[in-house]
Amino acid sequence: MKNKKPLKKQKTKITENFYDLSDEEIEELRNSKGKKYPMVNELGFKLFDSNGNVPLSKEEISEMLPLLEQKFEEVLDILRISRNDPNTTHTPARIARMLVNELLSGRYQKPPVTTVFPNRKKIDELIISKGIEVMSLCSHHWQTISGHCAIGYIPGDKILGVSKLSRVVEWFARRGQIQEELGEQIADYIEELIHPRALGVVIKAKHYCMIARGVRGSEANSVMITSVMRGLLLEDFNLRNEFLKLIEE
Ligand SMILES: [Zn+2]
Repeated sequence: MKNKKPLKKQKTKITENFYDLSDEEIEELRNSKGKKYPMVNELGFKLFDSNGNVPLSKEEISEMLPLLEQKFEEVLDILRISRNDPNTTHTPARIARMLVNELLSGRYQKPPVTTVFPNRKKIDELIISKGIEVMSLCSHHWQTISGHCAIGYIPGDKILGVSKLSRVVEWFARRGQIQEELGEQIADYIEELIHPRALGVVIKAKHYCMIARGVRGSEANSVMITSVMRGLLLEDFNLRNEFLKLIEE
Protein backbone atom coordinates (compact mmCIF):
# COMPACT_ATOMS: atom_id res chain seq x y z
CA MET A 1 0.00 0.00 0.00
CA LYS A 2 1.22 3.39 -0.89
CA ASN A 3 1.35 5.99 1.82
CA LYS A 4 0.10 9.31 0.74
CA LYS A 5 -0.43 12.65 2.38
CA PRO A 6 -3.96 13.31 3.63
CA LEU A 7 -6.25 15.11 1.27
CA LYS A 8 -5.87 18.54 2.79
CA LYS A 9 -2.25 18.93 1.78
CA GLN A 10 -2.57 18.87 -1.94
CA LYS A 11 0.35 18.73 -4.26
CA THR A 12 0.85 20.84 -7.33
CA LYS A 13 -1.87 20.45 -9.89
CA ILE A 14 -0.28 19.12 -13.01
CA THR A 15 -2.55 16.62 -14.65
CA GLU A 16 -5.83 18.43 -14.78
CA ASN A 17 -4.65 21.82 -15.87
CA PHE A 18 -1.71 20.79 -17.95
CA TYR A 19 -3.48 21.29 -21.23
CA ASP A 20 -4.25 24.94 -20.78
CA LEU A 21 -0.81 26.01 -19.62
CA SER A 22 1.28 28.15 -21.92
CA ASP A 23 4.58 26.81 -23.25
CA GLU A 24 6.42 29.08 -20.81
CA GLU A 25 4.42 27.78 -17.86
CA ILE A 26 5.03 24.17 -18.86
CA GLU A 27 8.74 24.90 -19.17
CA GLU A 28 8.75 26.55 -15.77
CA LEU A 29 6.91 23.59 -14.25
CA ARG A 30 9.42 21.18 -15.71
CA ASN A 31 12.36 23.17 -14.46
CA SER A 32 10.83 23.51 -11.02
CA LYS A 33 10.72 19.72 -10.82
CA GLY A 34 14.41 19.57 -11.63
CA LYS A 35 14.00 18.12 -15.09
CA LYS A 36 16.24 19.50 -17.75
CA TYR A 37 15.84 18.05 -21.18
CA PRO A 38 15.06 19.65 -24.52
CA MET A 39 11.43 20.71 -24.56
CA VAL A 40 11.33 20.98 -28.34
CA ASN A 41 12.88 18.40 -30.62
CA GLU A 42 14.56 18.98 -33.97
CA LEU A 43 11.23 18.61 -35.78
CA GLY A 44 9.89 21.51 -33.74
CA PHE A 45 7.54 19.31 -31.70
CA LYS A 46 7.02 20.03 -28.05
CA LEU A 47 8.00 17.07 -25.87
CA PHE A 48 6.28 15.94 -22.73
CA ASP A 49 6.35 12.98 -20.36
CA SER A 50 5.25 9.63 -21.72
CA ASN A 51 2.17 9.69 -19.49
CA GLY A 52 1.49 13.41 -19.87
CA ASN A 53 -1.26 15.08 -21.87
CA VAL A 54 -1.23 17.96 -24.31
CA PRO A 55 -4.30 17.94 -26.56
CA LEU A 56 -3.60 18.35 -30.25
CA SER A 57 -5.90 19.41 -33.06
CA LYS A 58 -7.23 16.81 -35.51
CA GLU A 59 -4.91 18.27 -38.13
CA GLU A 60 -1.86 17.93 -35.89
CA ILE A 61 -2.80 14.34 -35.07
CA SER A 62 -3.28 13.39 -38.71
CA GLU A 63 0.04 15.02 -39.62
CA MET A 64 1.75 12.48 -37.36
CA LEU A 65 0.56 9.49 -39.35
CA PRO A 66 2.68 9.75 -42.53
CA LEU A 67 5.76 10.70 -40.49
CA LEU A 68 5.32 7.65 -38.28
CA GLU A 69 4.55 5.37 -41.19
CA GLN A 70 7.81 6.33 -42.85
CA LYS A 71 9.77 5.61 -39.66
CA PHE A 72 8.11 2.24 -39.15
CA GLU A 73 8.95 1.32 -42.75
CA GLU A 74 12.58 1.94 -41.78
CA VAL A 75 12.14 -0.21 -38.67
CA LEU A 76 10.85 -3.10 -40.77
CA ASP A 77 13.74 -2.65 -43.19
CA ILE A 78 16.28 -2.73 -40.35
CA LEU A 79 14.63 -5.87 -38.98
CA ARG A 80 14.96 -7.33 -42.53
CA ILE A 81 11.24 -7.89 -42.82
CA SER A 82 10.07 -7.71 -46.41
CA ARG A 83 7.42 -5.08 -46.97
CA ASN A 84 6.40 -7.04 -50.05
CA ASP A 85 5.09 -9.79 -47.81
CA PRO A 86 1.32 -9.28 -48.12
CA ASN A 87 0.99 -9.56 -44.34
CA THR A 88 3.35 -6.67 -43.65
CA THR A 89 2.71 -4.37 -46.60
CA HIS A 90 0.49 -2.08 -44.55
CA THR A 91 2.00 -2.79 -41.15
CA PRO A 92 3.86 0.56 -40.83
CA ALA A 93 0.61 2.45 -41.49
CA ARG A 94 -1.32 0.15 -39.12
CA ILE A 95 1.17 0.64 -36.30
CA ALA A 96 1.08 4.40 -36.81
CA ARG A 97 -2.71 4.55 -36.62
CA MET A 98 -2.87 2.13 -33.70
CA LEU A 99 -0.45 4.21 -31.64
CA VAL A 100 -1.89 7.62 -32.40
CA ASN A 101 -5.60 6.76 -32.41
CA GLU A 102 -5.72 3.98 -29.84
CA LEU A 103 -2.80 3.03 -27.61
CA LEU A 104 -1.50 6.58 -27.04
CA SER A 105 -4.74 8.49 -27.66
CA GLY A 106 -4.93 9.75 -24.07
CA ARG A 107 -1.85 11.88 -24.70
CA TYR A 108 -3.52 13.92 -27.41
CA GLN A 109 -7.20 14.11 -26.45
CA LYS A 110 -8.81 16.58 -24.06
CA PRO A 111 -10.03 15.08 -20.78
CA PRO A 112 -13.46 13.45 -20.98
CA VAL A 113 -16.42 15.46 -19.77
CA THR A 114 -17.06 14.42 -16.18
CA THR A 115 -20.32 15.08 -14.40
CA VAL A 116 -20.31 16.26 -10.81
CA PHE A 117 -23.44 16.46 -8.62
CA PRO A 118 -24.06 18.10 -5.24
CA ASN A 119 -24.08 15.73 -2.26
CA ARG A 120 -27.58 16.76 -1.16
CA LYS A 121 -28.19 13.81 1.17
CA LYS A 122 -24.83 14.31 2.89
CA ILE A 123 -23.82 10.78 1.96
CA ASP A 124 -21.07 9.66 4.29
CA GLU A 125 -20.44 6.12 3.09
CA LEU A 126 -18.18 4.53 0.54
CA ILE A 127 -19.21 4.82 -3.09
CA ILE A 128 -17.40 2.21 -5.13
CA SER A 129 -17.05 1.45 -8.80
CA LYS A 130 -15.13 -1.70 -9.65
CA GLY A 131 -14.29 -3.79 -12.68
CA ILE A 132 -13.34 -0.70 -14.70
CA GLU A 133 -11.27 -1.88 -17.63
CA VAL A 134 -7.63 -0.83 -17.79
CA MET A 135 -5.90 -1.20 -21.14
CA SER A 136 -2.58 0.54 -21.17
CA LEU A 137 0.93 0.43 -22.59
CA CYS A 138 4.02 -0.02 -20.45
CA SER A 139 6.34 2.93 -20.91
CA HIS A 140 9.44 0.80 -20.64
CA HIS A 141 8.72 -1.82 -23.31
CA TRP A 142 5.60 -0.62 -25.11
CA GLN A 143 3.77 -3.82 -24.29
CA THR A 144 0.19 -4.08 -23.10
CA ILE A 145 -0.87 -3.63 -19.50
CA SER A 146 -4.29 -5.21 -19.15
CA GLY A 147 -6.50 -5.40 -16.09
CA HIS A 148 -9.10 -3.74 -13.93
CA CYS A 149 -9.41 -0.80 -11.63
CA ALA A 150 -11.58 -0.20 -8.56
CA ILE A 151 -12.27 3.32 -7.36
CA GLY A 152 -13.91 4.13 -4.05
CA TYR A 153 -14.57 7.38 -2.24
CA ILE A 154 -16.52 9.05 0.51
CA PRO A 155 -17.87 12.29 -0.87
CA GLY A 156 -17.49 15.73 0.59
CA ASP A 157 -19.82 18.27 -1.01
CA LYS A 158 -19.71 16.65 -4.43
CA ILE A 159 -20.59 13.31 -5.99
CA LEU A 160 -19.05 11.98 -9.16
CA GLY A 161 -21.10 10.76 -12.09
CA VAL A 162 -19.94 7.15 -11.98
CA SER A 163 -20.72 6.41 -15.62
CA LYS A 164 -17.84 8.65 -16.66
CA LEU A 165 -15.21 7.00 -14.49
CA SER A 166 -14.29 4.42 -17.10
CA ARG A 167 -13.58 7.21 -19.55
CA VAL A 168 -11.34 8.97 -17.05
CA VAL A 169 -9.44 5.73 -16.47
CA GLU A 170 -9.18 5.16 -20.20
CA TRP A 171 -7.91 8.71 -20.79
CA PHE A 172 -5.05 8.18 -18.35
CA ALA A 173 -4.39 4.58 -19.39
CA ARG A 174 -4.08 5.24 -23.11
CA ARG A 175 -0.56 6.53 -22.83
CA GLY A 176 2.84 5.06 -22.16
CA GLN A 177 2.40 4.29 -18.48
CA ILE A 178 3.77 2.67 -15.43
CA GLN A 179 0.99 1.23 -13.29
CA GLU A 180 2.15 3.02 -10.13
CA GLU A 181 1.80 6.46 -11.74
CA LEU A 182 -1.45 5.57 -13.49
CA GLY A 183 -3.15 5.05 -10.12
CA GLU A 184 -1.72 8.30 -8.78
CA GLN A 185 -2.85 10.26 -11.84
CA ILE A 186 -6.39 8.92 -11.57
CA ALA A 187 -6.48 9.75 -7.86
CA ASP A 188 -5.09 13.27 -8.44
CA TYR A 189 -7.75 13.92 -11.03
CA ILE A 190 -10.68 12.76 -8.89
CA GLU A 191 -9.31 14.64 -5.91
CA GLU A 192 -9.19 17.89 -7.87
CA LEU A 193 -12.66 17.31 -9.23
CA ILE A 194 -14.69 16.52 -6.10
CA HIS A 195 -12.39 16.84 -3.04
CA PRO A 196 -13.61 13.60 -1.45
CA ARG A 197 -13.06 12.80 2.24
CA ALA A 198 -11.65 9.41 1.35
CA LEU A 199 -10.31 8.09 -1.92
CA GLY A 200 -8.93 4.75 -3.03
CA VAL A 201 -7.72 3.60 -6.43
CA VAL A 202 -6.71 -0.05 -6.75
CA ILE A 203 -5.45 -1.43 -10.04
CA LYS A 204 -4.84 -5.11 -10.78
CA ALA A 205 -3.21 -5.76 -14.12
CA LYS A 206 -1.13 -8.14 -16.15
CA HIS A 207 2.04 -6.81 -17.68
CA TYR A 208 2.73 -8.38 -21.02
CA CYS A 209 6.27 -7.03 -21.11
CA MET A 210 6.96 -9.59 -18.37
CA ILE A 211 4.71 -12.33 -19.67
CA ALA A 212 5.76 -12.07 -23.32
CA ARG A 213 9.45 -11.93 -22.51
CA GLY A 214 9.19 -14.91 -20.19
CA VAL A 215 10.59 -13.03 -17.20
CA ARG A 216 10.97 -15.61 -14.44
CA GLY A 217 8.05 -15.64 -12.03
CA SER A 218 5.74 -13.82 -14.45
CA GLU A 219 3.71 -16.70 -15.79
CA ALA A 220 0.51 -15.78 -17.58
CA ASN A 221 -1.64 -15.42 -14.46
CA SER A 222 0.66 -13.19 -12.41
CA VAL A 223 -0.81 -9.76 -11.71
CA MET A 224 0.53 -6.51 -10.35
CA ILE A 225 -1.56 -4.71 -7.74
CA THR A 226 -1.15 -1.04 -6.93
CA SER A 227 -3.11 0.74 -4.28
CA VAL A 228 -3.49 4.47 -3.72
CA MET A 229 -5.27 5.40 -0.49
CA ARG A 230 -5.95 8.96 0.56
CA GLY A 231 -7.76 10.83 3.31
CA LEU A 232 -9.92 8.64 5.57
CA LEU A 233 -9.03 5.52 3.61
CA LEU A 234 -5.42 6.08 4.55
CA GLU A 235 -6.10 7.01 8.16
CA ASP A 236 -8.89 4.60 9.10
CA PHE A 237 -7.86 0.95 9.17
CA ASN A 238 -11.44 -0.38 9.44
CA LEU A 239 -12.67 1.71 6.56
CA ARG A 240 -9.78 0.57 4.42
CA ASN A 241 -10.57 -3.07 5.24
CA GLU A 242 -14.21 -2.54 4.33
CA PHE A 243 -13.17 -1.03 1.01
CA LEU A 244 -10.74 -3.83 0.23
CA LYS A 245 -13.35 -6.44 1.11
CA LEU A 246 -15.98 -4.80 -1.11
CA ILE A 247 -13.69 -4.70 -4.12
CA GLU A 248 -12.62 -8.35 -3.82
CA GLU A 249 -13.42 -10.33 -6.92
ZN1 LIG B 1 7.54 -3.07 -19.36
